[in-house]
Amino acid sequence: MPDLAADVIVVGAGNAALCAALAAQEQGASVLMLEAAPEAESGGNSRFTAGAMRVVYDGVNDIKALVPDLTAAEVDNTDFGSYPAGHFFDDMARVTQYRADPDLVELLVTRSFATLNWLRAKGLRLIPIYGRQAFKVDGKFKFWGGLTVEAVGGGPGLVSMLTEAAQKRGIGIRFRTRALDLLYDGNRVGGVRVRADGAVRELRASSVVLASGGFEANAEWRTRYLGPGWDLARVRGSRFNTGDGIRMALAIGASPRGHWSGCHAVQWEINAPEFGDLSVGDQFQKHSYPFGIMINAAGRRFVDEGADFRNYTYAKYGRVVLEQPGQFAWQIFDRKVKHLLRDEYNIRQITKVTADTIEEFAQKLDGVNAVAFLDTVREWNAAVRTDIPFNPNFKDGRCTEGLSVNKSNWANRIDTPPFEGYAVTCGITFTFGGLRIDTGAAVLDNDHQPIRGLYAAGELVGGLFYFNYPGGTGLTSSTVFGKIAGQSAARAAAGSP
Ligand SMILES: Cc1cc2nc3c(=O)[nH]c(=O)nc-3n(C[C@H](O)[C@H](O)[C@H](O)COP(=O)(O)OP(=O)(O)OC[C@H]3O[C@@H](n4cnc5c(N)ncnc54)[C@H](O)[C@@H]3O)c2cc1C
Repeated sequence: MPDLAADVIVVGAGNAALCAALAAQEQGASVLMLEAAPEAESGGNSRFTAGAMRVVYDGVNDIKALVPDLTAAEVDNTDFGSYPAGHFFDDMARVTQYRADPDLVELLVTRSFATLNWLRAKGLRLIPIYGRQAFKVDGKFKFWGGLTVEAVGGGPGLVSMLTEAAQKRGIGIRFRTRALDLLYDGNRVGGVRVRADGAVRELRASSVVLASGGFEANAEWRTRYLGPGWDLARVRGSRFNTGDGIRMALAIGASPRGHWSGCHAVQWEINAPEFGDLSVGDQFQKHSYPFGIMINAAGRRFVDEGADFRNYTYAKYGRVVLEQPGQFAWQIFDRKVKHLLRDEYNIRQITKVTADTIEEFAQKLDGVNAVAFLDTVREWNAAVRTDIPFNPNFKDGRCTEGLSVNKSNWANRIDTPPFEGYAVTCGITFTFGGLRIDTGAAVLDNDHQPIRGLYAAGELVGGLFYFNYPGGTGLTSSTVFGKIAGQSAARAAAGSP
């Protein structure tokens, strides 16, 4: 028997990988993590996130358990509400059009609170998401949309806290080490073939956890599976998520699962670079569109900007923008809602125009039919139900009537200068198609039998997300399934099922 590099090898160093490694180590396994990126770029998409995590909680006491340093003033000034399991189930079912795998959703929802608490005990610190997920009305913050906590320091904070927790427990991480193939004898997986320092070598282990993300950074696979035009999308996060884990597993007979032509994609600064930029993080996104209107090159609106809270529409509206002529749109606001724009509207790297008259503004919207735009605004202003009060904290029903594309909530006339426009294109976050796993995170083959020694977690798992996604679920899913995968891999390595 050749020497083992470790009992468990984990491919990747994002959130799913770190959770898997911590869980395997807790079971007594020796663990080695392999990260394709150099240390300065490690941590995958997890590092690009805001660190926001969707979790079931029953009122302020559960929030206090997740955020022990919550101050008395914060408790007094905040209505945290609750996010019952039933709501999380409903959100997953509704946004995925009832296609999400019920067994995986059951684990995701019912284990979310306990698993976040487990991760907190390992070293993760959380805080409430004031500002982005709660607006102050009548002196009190009120949370909405089921998304209430985030990692201290956002995605970079999350990755550095968990990386430190792993290293403190003796878990090794090899950077610049790209997994190429699985070592497989037709019966069980016994390690991986890697490329590091210009050489290819084999690393043996009793079990392998694949946590190497989706294929969003692979333009050829995007076009192949998501369809024509997706080669033109910007990548919001890591350039290292090129679908390797999925490819390696399929090559030994793993079963593909989920929405292979679907992905999470948002509105993203039009001049953002090809891949994510860690110095900007997620701030290229533009997520305050529910309070304005969006128009395309023809000067026309094309989507209901206020169909739901941004948490339930943002992940599918990137695709809608990609489908517009020239793959771009302008988000339009006036002074009345300026104070509601998220902090990402204040960054330096932004394509923004302003004007004090609507006619001058129309001329400044690059690539847009100005005459048609002015018609759109006239029709829009006449259609807003100003008799219904505006309130950003709930779906206020302040809609438009009589337009070919109506807005369902938060409609305001565009009539108060200065007018502001922000140019966006499509930024892909992650892909939905991936590998079939069982409830122990074992990868299943085409006969739906577990491939011995192989486990998977995170973005590369298929079957959870279809069409759309409730904001903050990716990190929760990679935490819950990362922990399960690490536990299963360690138990298998120790010879117990
Ligand atoms: C800009 C942005 C903002 C986001 N915000 C949020 C948010 O606030 N909340 C939320 O829940 N989700 C958010 N997401 C989604 C979230 O990032 C993912 O759902 C989650 O991080 C997935 O974790 P993961 O571990 O599966 O993947 P990743 O974190 O991407 O990790 C994959 C890892 O695998 C490595 N890798 C890839 N190929 C190989 C290989 N061949 N060999 C070795 N290593 C390899 C990568 O370098 C990386 O370390 C956001 C995503 C982006 C891009």
